[in-house]
Amino acid sequence: MSDQPPADHLKAQGRALVREAALVAGKWIPAGDDAIKVHSPADGSLLGRVPKLSAAQVDQAIDAAAGAFPAWARTKGKARGDILARWADLVTQNEDGLAALISLENGKPWKEALDEVRYANSFIRWFAGMAERLDGKAIESPNGEDLILAFREPVGPVAAITPWNFPAAMITRKAAAAFCAGCPVVLKPASATPFTGLALAALALEAGIPAECFSVVSGGQDVVGGRLTGSELIRKLSFTGSTSVGRKLAAQCAPTLKRMSMELGGAAPLLVFDDADLEVAVSGTVAGKFRAGGQTCVCPNRVYVQAGIKDAYLEALTMRVAALKVGDPFAPDTEIGPLIDEKGVTKVEDHIARTVAAGGKVLTGGQRMTGSYFQPTVIAGGDDELFCHEETFGPLVPVFTFDTEEQAISRANASEFGLAAFLFSDDLNRAMRVGRAIESGIVGINSGLISNAANPFGGVKQSGFGREGSTYGIDDYLQAKALTLALR
Ligand code: NAP
Repeated sequence: MSDQPPADHLKAQGRALVREAALVAGKWIPAGDDAIKVHSPADGSLLGRVPKLSAAQVDQAIDAAAGAFPAWARTKGKARGDILARWADLVTQNEDGLAALISLENGKPWKEALDEVRYANSFIRWFAGMAERLDGKAIESPNGEDLILAFREPVGPVAAITPWNFPAAMITRKAAAAFCAGCPVVLKPASATPFTGLALAALALEAGIPAECFSVVSGGQDVVGGRLTGSELIRKLSFTGSTSVGRKLAAQCAPTLKRMSMELGGAAPLLVFDDADLEVAVSGTVAGKFRAGGQTCVCPNRVYVQAGIKDAYLEALTMRVAALKVGDPFAPDTEIGPLIDEKGVTKVEDHIARTVAAGGKVLTGGQRMTGSYFQPTVIAGGDDELFCHEETFGPLVPVFTFDTEEQAISRANASEFGLAAFLFSDDLNRAMRVGRAIESGIVGINSGLISNAANPFGGVKQSGFGREGSTYGIDDYLQAKALTLALR
């Protein structure tokens, strides 16, 4: 058993953090009759509502951010860092309740939600430390006389649009970096999971982020998305979500030539070579695939196992997956909660049906359960093409076989996506060779869990551009300003 607090206590803590409102320049705007309803994916119950803001209300948030930008940009880095550190302390003090709120609106098991809160908070602490280290460069001019002073300045007010699968971490990865750089933020969290973002923003304001520097808006995609992308005052869009929406938003940003970061979808390959440690490979597959019930952008979407280790791998994987405990997010032994909604369930069903039709064999699972719960599933064989091009975003591991290293690399790269990839091998030379050859932004070698604040997170190809976290993550929020000093 575990030291998890009782479910009723946690749920009450989570509910106490629900604010049925949007936050515009320090004012809470309550949800009216025409509001967005937020339901628990675990039992379908209504958790609350957030307002559909008008274009004018979204503009108020943008205007406030633009008005506050000069003073926030001039605030000393140390002072911004101190505020971020206070925000992180408040998040730590409230972590049980924030985790419960994530479980309520997203459905992930409470312990996993707690991991997410700590992961989210690691970005706040990371950028708190960086805020007084945003130094520039002194560059000698080619004429040998003048001196070029390159400062790094904040890009300006930032719009952040985030998905539902990490209701806290996708927000702090952007907002903490923006605040560190000196940029105000107007955030649009996912409509399915807005309350965690609102709770985080309340704590940020309590910590000392100026009210005008952090608004949280909600409403119709066209109204909110249209105002944020169309505004000349917003100088950068940081988006995490699907590739199709990313493309649309990028086009909407084109007329105002905004800076953009695009953290988009993936179709991560996972390669298991004959020389892999079997236990490490199986544990890594399960850890990577079943985090958030398979609903992460870095979840392995397709597994390729070398012929010599295939039978042993499939047997061990099937046993482990069959033993995973699916259930209520607040039950202490739950490892997998519900999928976010019915659409998520039908997508998994569709991928299973198409793979079986192509000759795949279900080794465990394969069926929907009650509500939006789905059995953890392993399928062997069939056609991998589907999984090269479509994220399942659910608890399904499709396993295919390869013979040679060249084949493995070729299948790994047979996708328009390039976010995460994983490989398991005890041959270091091979691991480095294959890791370098895979077309993706992040590669896990002998590990299924690769997300942390120190890792430059981001994709290539249709998985987007820009990096979040790490020492690179600040670059997207800064631009060089060069003063040339002619010396006499
Ligand atoms: P999504 O449908 O693209 O939505 C993401 C966000 O965009 C939500 O806040 C959504 O608002 C908003 N949105 C959708 N259409 C919009 C529009 N026309 N204008 C303005 N905003 C709009 O993605 P999702 O289903 O929430 O998340 C899953 C996807 O995110 C997957 O593809 C996953 O791979 C990707 N993801 C990528 C990363 C990464 O770091 N690369 C991390 C996590 C997830 P509503 O909620 O109101 O629809």
